[in-house]
Amino acid sequence: MDIKDIKKAVTDTAATAGKKASDVVNKTKIKFALANMQTDLDELYERLGKLYYDAVSKGVDNGTKESALITKIDSLKADMEILKAEVGVFPRAGKVCPECGKSIPKNAEFCPYCGKDI
Ligand SMILES: [Zn+2]
Repeated sequence: MDIKDIKKAVTDTAATAGKKASDVVNKTKIKFALANMQTDLDELYERLGKLYYDAVSKGVDNGTKESALITKIDSLKADMEILKAEVGVFPRAGKVCPECGKSIPKNAEFCPYCGKDI
């Protein structure tokens, strides 16, 4: 191997390492974004719970507000599923619980998180 080949090998390795590093950075960014989205999601659930509580305990009609929140939650969850698939948070072979939206094993007969029969 002459010096030219060595230089090329080093450059190639650096390029590969650089690409891997940027993949890792992207994954980290996505995971960070997912964590933030999860916080938003928890907050939306909390607000929805409060609206529901007021509706039931005080007879306040929060139907419109609840629908708006549910729409937000659905779209946030859909975005999160796409990002999760991107970073491989759940295995492709798995499936998602229709009740709680968590990733569960493909052959699961019930959700280990919420107990829903699949
Ligand atoms: Zn579930």
